[in-house]
Amino acid sequence: MKILVTGGAGYIGSITVERLIKAGAEVVVFDNLYQGHEDAVHPDAIFVKGDLADKTAVETVISAHKPDGIMHFASYTLVGESVEKPFMYLRDNIVNGLNLMESAVKHGVKGFILSSTANLFDDPEQMPIAETERIVPGSPYGESKNILERNLYWMDKLYDMRYACLRYFNACGATEERGEDHDPETHLIPLVLEVALGQREKITIFGDDYNTPDGSCVRDYIHIVDLAEAHILAMNAILDGGESRKYNLGNGRGFSVKEVIETAREVTGHPIPAEIGPRRAGDPDILIASSETINHELGWKPKYPELKTIIQMAWDWHQAHPHGYTK
Ligand code: UDP
Repeated sequence: MKILVTGGAGYIGSITVERLIKAGAEVVVFDNLYQGHEDAVHPDAIFVKGDLADKTAVETVISAHKPDGIMHFASYTLVGESVEKPFMYLRDNIVNGLNLMESAVKHGVKGFILSSTANLFDDPEQMPIAETERIVPGSPYGESKNILERNLYWMDKLYDMRYACLRYFNACGATEERGEDHDPETHLIPLVLEVALGQREKITIFGDDYNTPDGSCVRDYIHIVDLAEAHILAMNAILDGGESRKYNLGNGRGFSVKEVIETAREVTGHPIPAEIGPRRAGDPDILIASSETINHELGWKPKYPELKTIIQMAWDWHQAHPHGYTK
């Protein structure tokens, strides 16, 4: 199969490309390198530098390569930033996604996978969170993904383009060759590892008065390779003639911020000083996914559910790339 991967130079995209190539797919990466790194693009993938806002560039890459499927990772992804810059998120994420969908249906692309988010579930009635949970976007970022999910519904209904929306919880971990390198870094695990590398003095725990056993927020940390495999399974299922679908993707287990820091201390042997700071806006107490549906329908199960393994793999990558890809 031939797959176009937007955002294939980014963290989740580049590792999915690595797994796609390992599975024998032909891959074309389309990325503007706003957050991504050219060095993260697998050498066997065709790399096209381009922006989804540029309709001509999108049209050109799709008509030239005629992919069977598209995996759409490229987007602005930070909940906090989206509250500060709602127009950037609501306009660019949605319009860029629509530009891609329009060319996709025009050229008969059969399957489309959307990187969606746990931020669709800001006020869950049940924990773990299943696909039947009501959608309450927690930010303009979550809303942009919600609207793209709705747009895909119409692409399916009107143009027979099947889709899968994959709602990620907390993606983390690394492969030997690829890992997490954001600028600025805002995610817990890479920040904690920067402390262990001596690049930061301490980690700040954003609030310890949440309604959780140790007072710090509980999240569902899912290994990036498990996420990547879910994309491949979902793409195969829709290209094989299956129906469109939506899956929540996580380990089904939660770990608190304090547990993450403690596990990183064990893995790295570094004391990792931590201090309690104020809450970060928009953080719910607990987010844990139920991945029963994808397990039941596609046989997906995390291969790396242990937090210790996840942090060890991230630590190995950070030690080998202490300044990320470019330095
Ligand atoms: N967090 C923290 N200190 C940091 C960064 C994150 O306490 O320096 C917390 C954050 O409040 C959340 C959890 O760690 O409860 C995971 O945050 P991250 O930004 O990694 O992912 P998110 O849950 O926002 O997708």
